Amino acid sequence: MSVNQSLKPITTEIINNQIHIGGCSLTELAKKYGTPLYVIDEHTLRSICNDYKNAFKDYKNIKMMYASKALCTSAVVRILDEEGFGFDAVSAGELYTIYKSGVDMTKVLFNGNNKSAREIELALNYGVGRFSVDNFYEAELLNKIAAEKNISADILLRITPGIECHTHDYIQTGQTDSKFGFDLTQLNEIVSLIINKYDNLNLKGLHAHIGSQIFELQSFYDEVAILVKEISEINKTFGLKLDEMNIGGGLGVKYTNSDNPPNTIDLAKAVTDAMHKYSVEIPTIYLEPGRSIISTAGVTLYTAGSSKQVPDGKKYIAVDGGMADNPRPSMYQAKYYAEKAKNPDSDKKETVTIAGRYCESGDILIEDIELPVIKEGDIICVYNTGAYNYSMASNYNRVEKSAMVLVNNSQSDIIINRETLDDLISHDSIPDRLRKQ
Ligand SMILES: *Cc1c(COP(=O)(O)O)cnc(C)c1O
Repeated sequence: MSVNQSLKPITTEIINNQIHIGGCSLTELAKKYGTPLYVIDEHTLRSICNDYKNAFKDYKNIKMMYASKALCTSAVVRILDEEGFGFDAVSAGELYTIYKSGVDMTKVLFNGNNKSAREIELALNYGVGRFSVDNFYEAELLNKIAAEKNISADILLRITPGIECHTHDYIQTGQTDSKFGFDLTQLNEIVSLIINKYDNLNLKGLHAHIGSQIFELQSFYDEVAILVKEISEINKTFGLKLDEMNIGGGLGVKYTNSDNPPNTIDLAKAVTDAMHKYSVEIPTIYLEPGRSIISTAGVTLYTAGSSKQVPDGKKYIAVDGGMADNPRPSMYQAKYYAEKAKNPDSDKKETVTIAGRYCESGDILIEDIELPVIKEGDIICVYNTGAYNYSMASNYNRVEKSAMVLVNNSQSDIIINRETLDDLISHDSIPDRLRKQ
C-alpha cells in the first residue's frame, strides 16, 4: 500500500475518543489556532515521497518533481526540497516562493499554457532548469527573451498525446481537443523552427500530462508509449538525440471509501514496462505528481454552527468555511469524507449534509454523510484536503483565508498565518475625491 491509497493521514489515531494526527489532538489544534484550519501531517508527506522514490528506484534516470500548484507554500517547498524533489512551477508566484525557499533553481521546470514575458524573464533570471514550451507563440517569445539575454533555454515541448482517461472533464488534459500543448501533427513544424530559427532554444525532449485523479494505469502506459514513439520519430527525422520525457502527474488519491487508486509500485511498473517495451534507450523520465504527494497529508478542521432540518428533507449542518477554502465540491462535484473530531465512533449517527458558510446554494462540502450527532461548536475534520484547496482558495464574501499548521511528533507549527481583517483591505486604495472628509 502507498500513502495515496489511504483515506486519512497515516498517523491518524484515536486517543481518549479524540482524533489525533501527527500526535496532535484535532480539537486542541482547533482551540489553539481557530477554524477553519488546514492541517498538514509531515510524516504522511515524507512517506509518499519515499513511496515514489522506492517505486522507481530500479529505473536509473528518474527525476522526481513536485507539481507545486497543488500546494505551494514555503514550508512545504522546504520539505520536498529535503526529500530530493525538483519542482514544476506555473507562475511568477510559484517561482518566487520556490526561489525564496532556497531551492537550486536548476531543479525547477517552468510550465504553463500562457506564460507572460515578465514570467519568462523571471524564470530565465532565476536560471530554471527546463521550460516546458506549450505553443508556437511561446517558443517565439522565449527565444526572443533568451536572445536578448544572450543565453539559451533548455526546453521540453508539451504535447497533447490524445489520450482520454476517465476523470472529470475539467481535470482531463491529454485528449486531442485540449488547450494545452502541441497537437502531434504540429510537432515536426515546431521542431524544425527550433532547429532552423530559434537559436536560443535547446530542445531536450517532450512533456505530456494526461489529467488528474487517474485510477487506470493503462493511461500512463499508453502515454509513455506515445512519448517514446514521438521522440524516436523526431530523432530519426531530424538527426537529434532527444533523451528526456516528462510524463506529468495525475496519480489518484482516495477521497472516499469507494475510491481505489493504484499504488506507486504499480504506477512505476506501468511506466517502466512501457519504456522497456518501446524504447531501446533509457531516457530520463521526469515525474511531476502534485495531488498524490500532498492531498492525503492534509485535512481541514471546521467548527459546526447553525443547522437546519428541512421538513421531510435533508438536515444541513453549516460550518465556518466552505467553497472559499475548498472550491472543489462546488467546482466539479468533488466528494470528500469527514469525521467528528471528538467521539468519531459514537453509535448515535444521523445522515447530514455539510454546508459551507458562503452565499451560494452550491456551497455544499459533503452531501449525505453519516456522522455522529453534531452540535454547534463541534469540530469536523474533512480528509484529503492537502491538494487544490488552499492553492485554489479565494476571499469570496471578503472572508480571511485560513491558517495552515504543520504537525509532526505531537508538535504543531504555523506554516501559513491566518489572514486578518487588515490584510483584506491592505490592497485597497481610495481615490482622493472619494475620501471621507
Ligand atoms: C497539474 C499538473 C501536474 C500535477 O497533476 P496532479 O494530478 O496533481 O498530480 C503535473 N504536470 C502538469 C503539467 C500539470 O499541469
